[in-house]
Amino acid sequence: MSNATVNPETQCVHAGTIPDETTGGVNSPVFTSTACEYIDRESQIYPRYFNAPNQLAVIRKICALEHAEDGVLFASGMAAISTTLLALAKPGDHLVMQEEVYGGSNQLAVEFLEHSGFEISFAPATAEALIDACCAKTAVLYFESPTNPLIKVVDIERVAAFTRERGIVSVIDSTFATPILQNPIDLGTDVVVHSGTKYFGGHSDLTCGVVATSGSLADKIRARAKQLGGSLNSQMSVLLERSLKTLSLRVERQAANAAKIAGWLDRHTAVSRVHYPGLAKSPNHELARKQMRQFGAMLAFELAGGSPDAFLSRLALIRPALSLGGVESVICVPAQTSHVSMSTAERARLGISPDLLRLSVGIEHVDDLIADIEQAL
Ligand SMILES: *Cc1c(COP(=O)(O)O)cnc(C)c1O
Repeated sequence: MSNATVNPETQCVHAGTIPDETTGGVNSPVFTSTACEYIDRESQIYPRYFNAPNQLAVIRKICALEHAEDGVLFASGMAAISTTLLALAKPGDHLVMQEEVYGGSNQLAVEFLEHSGFEISFAPATAEALIDACCAKTAVLYFESPTNPLIKVVDIERVAAFTRERGIVSVIDSTFATPILQNPIDLGTDVVVHSGTKYFGGHSDLTCGVVATSGSLADKIRARAKQLGGSLNSQMSVLLERSLKTLSLRVERQAANAAKIAGWLDRHTAVSRVHYPGLAKSPNHELARKQMRQFGAMLAFELAGGSPDAFLSRLALIRPALSLGGVESVICVPAQTSHVSMSTAERARLGISPDLLRLSVGIEHVDDLIADIEQAL
């Protein structure tokens, strides 16, 4: 599906575009039909079969960027994650899940999968811990890198080498990195999932999810997806295709801004701790350098004193808002938002303090962002 010799910036713009035979236009035409003729046609097209032309255009672009053979486009990141797990494992199977993952993924495991007969071991966000948690009946290992909300980095190649050897399917949530910053499939991971609601959409105005993997695993996931029904409609697929054309521009600028802000925060006396793998002193720095091209646009920090709520109320440009990955910088307190459903004790054990602030850095001028943080500190 991809032309491996073409660079990602070019793939973002061109890969997967549907030729417009009617006008010669440069954009993919929009196919809105949910009723399509079936006589004398090879396959029946229907959006919930995940084969509508505008869905496939997006999938071709993402597969080109992720170096994947095939993929499936979903109506949300959680539809992609839940469908993938329900396709690759069945009740009675053992799963290993990283304990520090997106709050919704953790809830899916704790509030649904465990009750439905899946046996789950939760492990800290390191390759060693994830590997140690595997046993003879492990079917799937699910992890995230960089992680939410402490921006830890897990050794993808090491996890993948182990799971490959044992016949365990590895699934990574690569939302925080995007294919612009890391390519887990090149490092041996079987399945890459994304919440496309974040960097792929990039403008905080659409919800979608993506799976990129091998042809055979994509077939398996698509079969389950048809039953569960989490497909994305054509209009949203087109909006996503347009957004992806600027993915590399946005992510590179966002990551460059984040690196400057992290360094600045790290030198500020009102800030006690900065979690960002780009800092040379970060315990994740060497690993991040090895497997990522930049260090991402997500960072977390703790104030040396004062309440995070008062700090948030003084910010003028950076909005306290949920979600992340958009062109605008947003900030939140994970203990009150993404990880609110976790118990206080569990959050404390993971190092998610009540004062932890998580910043999603946008494409604004970095000096303006720093000035806003400075006046609020
Ligand atoms: C937001 C997010 C999800 C869930 O995606 P939705 O599109 O909200 O369903 C999954 N993983 C990560 C890392 C996320 O940030």
